[in-house]
Amino acid sequence: MAKAPVILWLRRDFRLHDHEALHAALDEGGPVIPVFIHDELCEALGAAPRWRMGEAVAAFAARLEEMGSRLVLRRGSARAVLEALVAETGACAVHWSRAYDPAAIKRDREVKAALKEAGVNAQSHKGHLLFEPWDVQTKQGGPYKVYTPYWNAVRGRQLAAPLATVGDIPSPETWPDTEALGDWEMGADMNRGADVVALHATVGERAAQGRMAAFLGDKIAEYQEARNLPAETGTSNLSENLSYGEISPRALWHAGWRRIEEGASGAQTWVKELVWREFAAHLLYHYPQMDERNWREEWNGFDWRRDNNDAAAWRKGRTGEPFVDAAMRELYVTGRMHNRARMIVASYLTKHLLTDWRVGLRWFEECLIDWDPASNALGWQWVAGSGPDATPYFRIFNPATQADKFDPEGDYRKAWLAEGQAHPTKTALSFFDAIPRSWEMSAEDDPPERLIGLKEGREKALAAYDALKQGRKDG
Ligand SMILES: Cc1cc2nc3c(=O)[nH]c(=O)nc-3n(C[C@H](O)[C@H](O)[C@H](O)COP(=O)(O)OP(=O)(O)OC[C@H]3O[C@@H](n4cnc5c(N)ncnc54)[C@H](O)[C@@H]3O)c2cc1C
Repeated sequence: MAKAPVILWLRRDFRLHDHEALHAALDEGGPVIPVFIHDELCEALGAAPRWRMGEAVAAFAARLEEMGSRLVLRRGSARAVLEALVAETGACAVHWSRAYDPAAIKRDREVKAALKEAGVNAQSHKGHLLFEPWDVQTKQGGPYKVYTPYWNAVRGRQLAAPLATVGDIPSPETWPDTEALGDWEMGADMNRGADVVALHATVGERAAQGRMAAFLGDKIAEYQEARNLPAETGTSNLSENLSYGEISPRALWHAGWRRIEEGASGAQTWVKELVWREFAAHLLYHYPQMDERNWREEWNGFDWRRDNNDAAAWRKGRTGEPFVDAAMRELYVTGRMHNRARMIVASYLTKHLLTDWRVGLRWFEECLIDWDPASNALGWQWVAGSGPDATPYFRIFNPATQADKFDPEGDYRKAWLAEGQAHPTKTALSFFDAIPRSWEMSAEDDPPERLIGLKEGREKALAAYDALKQGRKDG
């Protein structure tokens, strides 16, 4: 008798290399039906992450078709879709790669329980992270709250070698019906922006592997210095591909350690950055409200401003602070922002503009094509001062001195700012092709006035921080 089919539920693991869930599905011995579900979590994604998810799905579907398989697309609640597919196909098992953010955990628990109840072999697998969040514990037991001890705990761990790339996936005799990706209009909320951002995205497993080879080959040796210069391509840019599982973190870990052993000078720094991603996931898993609430409760008494006109100007790259505006425009045009720039714009919003970090977090969630719930939450709370292992609040980035240091020739600002320039660059002009017309901005406008002087903003921020400390003493 023919073996019953097996469903492989793809979520953020669009690759054929080092894919534990795919191998487990193949090991069942029957035909495999790869499925992507446009469910409530997909619906809830910000505009750019949802658009980018659509690109990842399209690229992976094309890859599967090249090898004679398919990606079945369905829309609806994950549980209802999987139950229906099991009934339609007689599938005996469903395999998927684990996700660790609270919404995904809740969904996956319900799905697993329902499938098991129906007698289906429902199994989740490792793949999105190097280390399961529950596998790294302090000596006293419990999660880490500080990065360096976390790094020391994992740095010497031996991870299994990446699994082989799958070259053949047995097809079922008949394929279940599929919906059309185009009908989902995953880029609809991007308005005019999708075509512009598309020029800057690097989609799919092959492209991600090319990126990895290029970076780990030459660039990594200069990473230590170049990673701080936003006008240069000094970092790997792999966060976009990691977000959608187009590259395996374990493949990156092994490749990074090989480069350390070969003596590439920036390699250890880079592997440590990969581990920041792990640390972020570890924290969000153990503190599931990290993306909504101040991690340090004492910050609940801080007098943050809610969303406001200054924050709206920040979103539009119109604060009058050139480095901040350049970065905010880079974000809108490319769906990315250099890490140093992320820290500076986050500091400017939460300190100079005294605006709640959640206002910034939500805008990044809307715009980033490498959006990751854990890294984004950790990044914002780290800069704001309210998070675990955070930078002290009184360390306020000065965007002007940061620009002098990390953009000494002004190349980054020239790349992204058009107003007042005799010959604006193509990238700076492309911002005006991407933004909604309702913003009423034009490259011919005068450069924006500063919203606030840097010294004045710093003093106001420090005063608010003193008030928080005083309140704590009084309370
Ligand atoms: C306010 C703020 C918000 C952020 N939001 C996100 C986000 O939504 N998604 C995201 O992937 N990263 C986020 N980061 C972290 C960081 O900015 C990006 O991971 C980095 O810019 C990606 O560029 P890269 O791939 O070239 O990194 P590389 O320098 O090449 O580093 C390699 C990998 O390490 C990881 N990494 C590097 N730096 C960090 C970091 N500080 N925290 C966590 N992981 C890191 C990324 O996976 C990255 O791809 C945020 C940082 C800040 C300050």
